[in-house]
Formats: sequence, C-alpha cells, structure tokens
Amino acid sequence: MTVDVVTRDGAQEHLSDDALADLMARLRGPLITADDPAADVEPVPVWNAMHVDRPAVTARCTGTTDVVEAVTFAREHGLLLAVRGGGHSVAGFSTVRDGMLVDLSPMRGVQVDPGRRLVRVQGGALLADVDRETQAFGLATPLGRVSETGVAGLSLGGGYGHLQTRLGLSCDNIVEAQVVCADGRIRIASAGSNPDLFWAIRGGGGNFGIVTSFTFRLHPVGRVVAFTGMFYPLEDLPDVERRWRDHVVIAPDQVTSFIVTMTFPAAPEMPEVIHDRPVAIVGGVYCGDPDDGMRVMQPLRELGTPLFDMSQPMPYTAVQSSFDPLFQRRSLRAYWKSQYLDELTDDAIDAIAGRALDRPAPLSLVNTFHIGGAVHAVGPQETSFAERSAPFMVSIDTNWSDPAQDAAAIAWGRAAWEEMTKYGNGNVFLNFTGLADESVHEGLDSAFGRNLRRLGQIKATYDPDNLFQVNNNIMPAE
Ligand SMILES: Cc1cc2nc3c(=O)[nH]c(=O)nc-3n(C[C@H](O)[C@H](O)[C@H](O)COP(=O)(O)OP(=O)(O)OC[C@H]3O[C@@H](n4cnc5c(N)ncnc54)[C@H](O)[C@@H]3O)c2cc1C
Repeated sequence: MTVDVVTRDGAQEHLSDDALADLMARLRGPLITADDPAADVEPVPVWNAMHVDRPAVTARCTGTTDVVEAVTFAREHGLLLAVRGGGHSVAGFSTVRDGMLVDLSPMRGVQVDPGRRLVRVQGGALLADVDRETQAFGLATPLGRVSETGVAGLSLGGGYGHLQTRLGLSCDNIVEAQVVCADGRIRIASAGSNPDLFWAIRGGGGNFGIVTSFTFRLHPVGRVVAFTGMFYPLEDLPDVERRWRDHVVIAPDQVTSFIVTMTFPAAPEMPEVIHDRPVAIVGGVYCGDPDDGMRVMQPLRELGTPLFDMSQPMPYTAVQSSFDPLFQRRSLRAYWKSQYLDELTDDAIDAIAGRALDRPAPLSLVNTFHIGGAVHAVGPQETSFAERSAPFMVSIDTNWSDPAQDAAAIAWGRAAWEEMTKYGNGNVFLNFTGLADESVHEGLDSAFGRNLRRLGQIKATYDPDNLFQVNNNIMPAE
C-alpha cells in the first residue's frame, strides 16, 4: 500500500509502507494518514471553517527531534509541507490539501524564569498557555486578543495585543528562538547567534524554519488591569470614533485602545440591550496601576451615550480571553484584509462607519486599532516587521457561517478594503491576510517594503528550495 502525497512541484509522491514505517519509527509522536480515524480527532483544528483541507500525512510532533525528523523526511521526498502552531491562520496556512503537515499541537509547554523575567514557550503553545503560567508570577509578555491563537504564528508575523502601546509587538519581545531550518539543523536565533535569522523571524513569519521554542521577555503587568469595554450604538460610530481618535493620540502609552464593530450575539451573560444589536465596542487596556488606569481611561467612557459599560479593573487573563466566545474554532468562515492609516480623517471615519453599517453577517467586523508608543519606538529596519509609524490600522474581518454566502462575503470584504485603501498608506498586516484566489505572495511588498530584499537573501541562506512555502511566502533571492 502507498500513500500519495503532493510534492512542492505539484506532482504526487507515492510513499511506500516502508517509507512511512521508517518515519514512524523515528518519531515519538504519532504519524497519521488521511484515512486513519485519528485524522478526525485533531487536538487543535484550524480556525477558519473555509480552509479545512485534509493533509495526506500528519506528523504530530512531541519535541524538537520529531520536528527535525519530519522536516528531513519532507525535504528528502520533496513534499508540500505545512506547519500548524495554533491553527488560527485566516488564510488557511496551517493545513495543506493532500500534502504533509507538521502539527505542533502537543508542544505547548511553558516555563517561566521569574528571576530573569523570561518565559520559554514551545512552538505549539496557545496564548492562554503562556498567560496562565506567566500570571502565576504577575508577569506577562504582549500577545494577541483571542486566547486560543497560536503564539508562533502570531509573534512570527508581528503580534498586536492589549499591551502593545506600552510594551511593543510580540515579536519585539522575542529574545531567542530555537529554529529547525530546511536542512534539518537546529539553530538558535538571538542577538548573538545567527542574528540575520533572528532579524528575519521577528516579522517574517514561518518562512525560515519551524520554531520549536521561543524565549520572550516578561514584564510586571500584575494580575489585574484596568479595562474599558464600552458598547455604543453602531449608528453613533461617526461621532464616537472622531472623539476616540482625538483622545487616543494624546493618551499615555500605557493605554492601548481599539474599536470593534459587530452585531453582538444574544449571549445570556450579557445585558439584553445589546442582544442582536449592531454595536461599536470601544476597548481599552491600561498597562500600569489599575486605579490610575480607570482614571486615565475615563474619557473612553464618555465618547457618547453607551448602551452598556462593562469597564472595570479585571483579571488580566479574563481580559485576554474576553473575545474568545465569539471566535470559536471552525464556527466561522473568514476572509480578512487590513490597511494602515497615517491619518484617521473624518472622511475615513465616515467610510468605516458606512461599511460597518452594511456588514454581510453579524460577526463580520470593521475594526480600528490605535498603534503607537513602543511599537513605533522600534525602527522599520531593526526587525523585519517594517510598519513602525502608522498610528491606525483598519481591519475588515469578514466572518460568516453559510457556505452559500462565500462569494458575496468575500466580494464585500474586498470592496470594503478597496475603499479603505483610499485613506490608507498602502501597507497591510500579513497576519490579517485572507485568501480566496490570491497568491501566497500577495501583500509582501507593502508589508515588508525595503526589508523584503534582505528577507529574500536570508530565505536563500536558510531555505534555498522554499520548503516552507505554505505561508505569506518570501521567495529565496536568486
Ligand atoms: C480569532 C482571531 C484573532 C486574532 N487576533 C489577533 C490579534 O489580536 N493580534 C494579532 O496580531 N493577530 C491576531 N490574529 C491573527 C493571528 O496572529 C494569525 O492568524 C497567526 O498566524 C496565528 O498564529 P497560529 O500559530 O495560531 O497560526 P497557524 O495557523 O498555526 O500558523 C500561521 C502561520 O504560521 C506558521 N507557523 C505556525 N507555527 C509555527 C512555528 N512554530 N514555526 C514556524 N512557523 C509556524 C504556519 O506555518 C502558518 O504559515 C487573530 C486571528 C484570529 C483567527
């Protein structure tokens, strides 16, 4: 019996029983073929219900050695390879139809070194895994806003979150990574070891190898933070967002704030006034003393007449998971696009509000994020993550449930994004990439700018044959 697996050049490789048995013997974790009943029981399924393609073979890795073996096998057989960290890629990069998947879901270990204020995190960990362990010491490293997201994909692609304005992007807090490169060698990437690789992985995604562990810097954030959660009527967005804009640009760096628009579901734990109601949620987190934070963020509570105010000092882990119930794995089909804005003009706000009032589905979102402080303190060429000056990003998160709506929803997302490009600086955030028929190279120029050339050269050093290509794909320089 053989298993047919797609190769990187689009052909089929027939893997014999012997070849599979040999790989199986070299792995500690299971090797799963598509017809194995275990293939139906994925510990960490992909998030986007639009991209549930089944790999022909999955190596569920338990440690770095498994990853080395799986990478070596994929390279030697020329297989099309995908890598899954937390499975939250909106573009569907953490699975591959009929190819080989390296699934890091068993690798979720987290070890805190409180004395040195460092945390070591395995490559398959989710944000909640890290927050749980670091918060035992009242510490945190900046991560994203939905706790089931993977640390790896989020931080390799940048990583915005509730602490960004004060503490920077997730990638800015990486001090070291252990990387299995295409040649199967394990490399340490840090300021003192393979500094070119270290530069590239802080923004360049999974193009350079599989990160089996990260070391992040920790900060004394405490267990309770001041949280602002204001639900304004969506029809008031033009006024609310103008006042929000005027405030956030002068707010201290401790404040990280955003506006999310959606039709809020009828969640029994939330007041009826917002059930099935289109709302503009103004969120804010203060990185500092909670009492100071409640005082400093008071203006965010006075942007209009709210339907509901849930602002209060809250446990940090509760803040980090507050959006989780809305974004369960495989519950939504998704197509996202983003645009950075050098200025949030009144016209831009009116365009945002127009699109927000005309969303194709309740959980389709039009979001505005304020960015600044520590994110802008890093130069555009200090790490490969190049966008270091735009104070706002608009993301069009088109989420829907009915497959019959695919074409219309994607068309809406594209049209909304096209309109935002009139107000934006042309740059996109690659972690918010949705793919329908776009190429995997889409958006690279605008996301990386002058850094793309150097990224191509580093790709040529560490992955000259483009083994790691199921991602926002950087081509190796000639
Ligand atoms: C509901 C939701 C909320 C989100 N919120 C935020 C947010 O607040 N802030 C933010 O910045 N982004 C956010 N994102 C975007 C998110 O950062 C990206 O989708 C990110 O790629 C997810 O990482 P992952 O490990 O879960 O993804 P995966 O789908 O597992 O992987 C994404 C990419 O990273 C590669 N990869 C994964 N693990 C590794 C590894 N160990 N080594 C090398 N390459 C690897 C994969 O091959 C793939 O190309 C959100 C996405 C969703 C769906």
